[in-house]
Amino acid sequence: MAEPTHIAILPSPGMGHLIPLVEFAKRLAFQHNISVKFIVPTDGPPSKAQKSVLDSLPSTISYTFLPPVSFSDLPSDAKIETLISLTVTRSFPSLREELKSLVSTTRLAALVVDLFGTDAFDVAREFNVSPYIFYPSTAMALSLFFTLPKLDETTSCEYRELKEPVKIPGCIPIHGKDLLDPVQDRKDDAYKWVLHHAKRYRQAEGIMLNSFMEMEGGAIKALQEEEPGKPPVYPIGPLVNMDSKSKPEEAEILKWLDDQPHGSVLYVSFGSGGSLSYNQITELALGLEMSDQRFLWVVRSPNDGVANATYFSVQSQNDPFDFLPKGFLDRTKGRGLVVSSWAPQAKVLSHGATGGFLTHCGWNSTLESVVNGVPLIAWPLYAEQKMNAVMLTEDIKVALRPKPSENGLIVREEIANTIRSLMEGEEGKKVRNRMKNLKDAASDVLSENGSSTKALSRLALKWKTQNYN
Ligand code: UDP
Repeated sequence: MAEPTHIAILPSPGMGHLIPLVEFAKRLAFQHNISVKFIVPTDGPPSKAQKSVLDSLPSTISYTFLPPVSFSDLPSDAKIETLISLTVTRSFPSLREELKSLVSTTRLAALVVDLFGTDAFDVAREFNVSPYIFYPSTAMALSLFFTLPKLDETTSCEYRELKEPVKIPGCIPIHGKDLLDPVQDRKDDAYKWVLHHAKRYRQAEGIMLNSFMEMEGGAIKALQEEEPGKPPVYPIGPLVNMDSKSKPEEAEILKWLDDQPHGSVLYVSFGSGGSLSYNQITELALGLEMSDQRFLWVVRSPNDGVANATYFSVQSQNDPFDFLPKGFLDRTKGRGLVVSSWAPQAKVLSHGATGGFLTHCGWNSTLESVVNGVPLIAWPLYAEQKMNAVMLTEDIKVALRPKPSENGLIVREEIANTIRSLMEGEEGKKVRNRMKNLKDAASDVLSENGSSTKALSRLALKWKTQNYN
């Protein structure tokens, strides 16, 4: 019998990046009998969450953590894109050792990196291993990556100062201020890193994309237009984490949902790290209250000093919600549940009581909502979330979006109106129907003969049949 095909995956630090890659690895292992080794670069001890996800995988998926790199020489305000890129380049010696050992013992078909890992291509080439990218975000953001080098050459100001919207191939025109965070300051190192990677994307032998045609048809078609030096793009999404293990404290949340009417609850969450200012939390709380709808809100402490100075008294350490408006919890008792920091999101979104999702538009959260047919309220915060919000609201129209007032704050009346609109208005009905269609499409593309399943099969076949030296 032929020796099994192996691939190696180099994920960027952070759970949000690891989760879709793990789903990708599982599909390769279960559907195509391809073995996967995760080689995880680190800048400190691995997190419990990372270890527990990697430990739960089948035996054909193994992992190793590379020794941590040091950032002691970097300024304290270095951005995440810079840190991720440097974690990869500074791990070259240990990555080289890993690849050396893998190529000598297995048929290693590919090294797969994600967003900002393209420097590892150089190490892959030393060992004649084919370089690939797993792109964990939208086709729109990937299309921007391909057009960024040209945009950079032809634009002299900051993109947010452009009068005309930016035309990303295949996408709805978008204002420069809504492009992803690291391109908002062209003098910062983070921009230079993103541009550096964007230029190297063409060196990949293929790019796997966590999206699908029915969701982002225009952008995917543009990406798949053949052009010399442009790698094939494989839309293999939506890959989402469905089976998160519940902790005992999470059972209470699901029990509460069990007691709510079908489709009646708005789930409110800003991802694994999103937080709001004290004033914005106050408006959101009062907006939720004013809307008269049921809600489940994953709340985090305010991200500005105001609350720290004024509200974090000794007493508040015993009350994790002390920063919420006075009396809010009592007044909304029964129809609202507020939980601290974390909820079992995959389970919440697949629960029949959940009828809407107020989200920061992180791509994993968005796809999790799509596969469950839950319509959205778009409240983007950082990274590429503003682009996602524009696409979801103005292009495919599966989200409503509250408008900020002139000082940037989204006020309670606007929040309450948007929530009511989504949960019981005419506009909400349309958005809900479109989301339902998208859910059906998502399920089709992942079925046996669906386009995402076939794209993955093409890729697996390419890896299994390629020549090795
Ligand atoms: N998540 C969760 N519970 C929470 C918040 C987030 O399970 O309370 C999960 C969510 O299901 C998703 C991931 O964390 O899989 C967040 O990824 P996303 O891309 O949406 O946003 P990010 O956290 O990267 O900004």
